[in-house]
Amino acid sequence: MKRVAKANGIVEATLWHDMLTAAGIEASVQRMFLQGSVGEVPPHEAALEIWVQHEEQFVRARELIDDLRSAPQRHWFCSSCKEQIDGGFEQCWNCGALMPSL
Ligand SMILES: [Zn+2]
Repeated sequence: MKRVAKANGIVEATLWHDMLTAAGIEASVQRMFLQGSVGEVPPHEAALEIWVQHEEQFVRARELIDDLRSAPQRHWFCSSCKEQIDGGFEQCWNCGALMPSL
């Protein structure tokens, strides 16, 4: 197990986790509590961290997350159903087609 990144909230953590899983990387979301703060920090404010199961997949996982971070607001149009896709998604939410450049 190796930590890849710290997410800003459950939405980002879920997005990264799903993306890594789709890329064949075994990943998990860990909720980390600062030492001594258990019971003081509400669960939803605790940091969420992405961990990979296999260390040899760490570099690849890091690249994928960096790619997603560097292009958070890209837009593209699905070639199958013509939907406009916003955000860091590489798959059409409507029909499941992959982003054209992949
Ligand atoms: Zn589509």
